[in-house]
Formats: sequence, C-alpha cells, structure tokens
Amino acid sequence: MITRIRSLIVLLSFLFVNMPEISANSSKNVSIAVIGAGFAGLAAVGHLRELGFEDITVFEGSNRFGGRVYSIPYGKGRIQMGAQWVNGKNNAIYKIAEKMGLVVGELADDDVFESANIFAGKCGISETLVNEFYDFAIPLEEKYTSFADASKGSYNISIADLYEDDFQAFLNKKWRSRKELGHLDALSRFYKGYFEGEWGAFKDLALANFDQWDDDENELKAYVLDSTGYWGVAKYLKQRVPDEMIEYNHVVRKINYSGEKTTIMIENGSNLKFYPKKFDYVIVTTSLGHLKKHARSMFKPQLPKKKLEAIDRLGFGNLLKVDLVYDEPWWNENSSTLATLRVKGCSESHPLMSHFHSFDALEWADNQIES
Ligand SMILES: Cc1cc2nc3c(=O)[nH]c(=O)nc-3n(C[C@H](O)[C@H](O)[C@H](O)COP(=O)(O)OP(=O)(O)OC[C@H]3O[C@@H](n4cnc5c(N)ncnc54)[C@H](O)[C@@H]3O)c2cc1C
Repeated sequence: MITRIRSLIVLLSFLFVNMPEISANSSKNVSIAVIGAGFAGLAAVGHLRELGFEDITVFEGSNRFGGRVYSIPYGKGRIQMGAQWVNGKNNAIYKIAEKMGLVVGELADDDVFESANIFAGKCGISETLVNEFYDFAIPLEEKYTSFADASKGSYNISIADLYEDDFQAFLNKKWRSRKELGHLDALSRFYKGYFEGEWGAFKDLALANFDQWDDDENELKAYVLDSTGYWGVAKYLKQRVPDEMIEYNHVVRKINYSGEKTTIMIENGSNLKFYPKKFDYVIVTTSLGHLKKHARSMFKPQLPKKKLEAIDRLGFGNLLKVDLVYDEPWWNENSSTLATLRVKGCSESHPLMSHFHSFDALEWADNQIES
C-alpha cells in the first residue's frame, strides 16, 4: 500500500513548554532540551545552531536517531520501514532531498489506479467493469477538494461519509449481477485502502484535510527517492547535530517547568531519576500518540487547556509496512501498483489477497514489492 502520509504528518513541528518562546533575538547564553531525535527534533537543533544556540541536549528514548524515519540496508538499497515518499514540493523534506540529489521520479495519485496491475484471483475481472469503477472513483478526490474549499470552516464531515454515499449512488445507477457486486466491492476496498495509505486514515479523515493540504502542485503527487531514500535526508539532518548533544536511551517522563529552570525526569530501566542539568527551554517533539497518552502526566504545571484539547481532538491512523522479495518479478514491471483484490469465492484463500489491498513495486529492486 502506498505510504505517502499526508494529513497527519507533524514533520518539523514541535511544542514549546517554557514561555516566552525562544527566538532568533533571545540571548544565546541559554540551555535548551529537545525531546526526541526524529526529524522534528533534529531539524529544530539544526535550526537553533544556525541561529547561534549551542547549549543543547537532545533526549532520545530509543538507541537511534530518525524516529519514524527508519530504514534497513537490504540488497542494493535500503528498505524504508517508515517514511518513503515526499508529498509535493511545498515541503521542507523536498528541498533537502533535491539538494542531496535523492529525487529520482514522481508519481501522480491518479497513476496509482490508472496504471495498476489488477489481480482478482481465479475468476478474473472484466476490464469494462474496472474502467467503470475508475470513471466513478478517480474524479472523487477533486470533487471532495472543491467541496472542502467551498465549505470552509463548516466541514464537519468525513471523507468516508461522502464516499459511502457516492459509492451507493454509483451502485444504484444500474442493476448489477452478484459477481459484479463482489468485484465492485473489492475495487472499492482497494480505493479506500489507497486513502488509508495515502492519508493515514479513511474512516476518520476529515474533509478539512483536503482544504488545508497545500503541496504547491496542480495535481496531488509524490516524489520518489533513490535507493537511499529518507535515510539520506535523515543523515543530512543528523550531520548538523553533534553526537555529544544526544542522550540516547533517555526516555523523558516528567518535565517540571514550575521553577526558574526546568527539570527533567528520565526513565532508566524501572527507575526514575532527575537529569543532573536544568534547562531554560524545552522543545517537545514526541508524537501525537505519545502526547495523547502522557500529556496530562508529563508536564508540571499542566499544559494550557487549549493545547490539551487540541491533543485530544486531533487524530491519526495506523500504518504498517510489509516488504516481499521474490526470485523473479511475476507482475507487470511497467506497473507501479499491484491491486490484489479480495473477491469472495475467487481469491480470498490467497495470502496476498486475503491480507493486503495493494502493493507497490520498488523502483530500485525489480524483485521486491511492498504493501
Ligand atoms: C510506516 C510509516 C510510513 C510513513 N510514510 C511516510 C511518507 O511516505 N512520507 C512522509 O512524509 N511521511 C511518512 N510517514 C510519517 C513520517 O515518518 C512522520 O511524520 C515523521 O517521521 C515524524 O517525525 P517527528 O520527528 O515529528 O516524530 P518521530 O519520528 O516520531 O520522532 C519522535 C522521536 O521522539 C522519541 N521519543 C518519543 N517519546 C519520547 C520520550 N518520552 N523521551 C525521549 N524520546 C522520546 C521517539 O523515539 C522518536 O525518535 C510515515 C510514517 C510511518 C510510521
């Protein structure tokens, strides 16, 4: 499944917990703690150092930098277990990837469907039916975007609600055989799966995302990186953060900013201990999921009500990636997407079809696919 998370990316965004906020004009003689060495944390440190701040300590709970950008070397490249695609040019990552020469191609969203290699099991599938579904489904994203633009501020509705109504209306347009209904249902799941991968959610994806997403492109598209992928961007961001600034395996449990200086409590195995140094400023870059779980117990004093409510209100989806390696490609190598449709009585016993909606062919390894 295409993994070009859009809406829920909080890349390079962070939460300051000590007021007033630090700025380019602040005294450089201050100590700053950054929680998390993911892209947001690394980018924050790089930026602070550009402005002349040097007394910085990064607390990273795991034993590595990169956070949800994580890749493992495999074959002639790296398998990206986390972020992989760059969504549009209006994106700090795009600028870095371009500078590093990592961008090797682009993929428009419509290509996902139009060039998909469709597998529907032993019964096969009629091309006419697939085209009928595409004629219905492909224009929807543009339709919902216009709808979102037109209903600014009053879009209390999810994409799923709109889609389910539209799909029902499409089915009601003419009589369908049971077999056609089974195929259309599978195609519909493929389409919804695209949203799951692309935006991190379908059922809970608010229409607001279509209004607020601006990737500076005429059509929604993603940029494809070379076999190094996001690892190249991670290395670029890390270069600006000296090793001695990062405290790995330091999980931050409490941030007490009630005094003149901020104290930080670290989890060390099953023990909690105060970090010996105190800080003037703290920048928190932990994920929304982490904040949902810990924001009410992590900060003293509590975060302002407005921030807590925002943390409660925002949502996110789940994403898990699976890579499959074959001796030889068995799919059409001209297709970037393989739709593995689960159709009752035709394909549901096949593991590729019973568990996955679609796969992407890797650009740099012709025998690997990824869902
Ligand atoms: C499978 C997958 C695929 C994705 N695909 C794409 C894609 O194609 N394109 C794209 O743009 N985005 C994609 N994303 C999203 C992207 O990876 C994230 O938005 C981005 O990496 C978030 O960076 P971050 O620094 O904000 O958070 P994180 O990467 O989560 O970094 C936070 C860091 O804080 C650390 N931490 C957490 N709690 C504590 C604590 N209490 N104390 C100390 N350290 C702590 C964590 O260990 C982590 O290193 C994908 C995400 C996933 C999971």
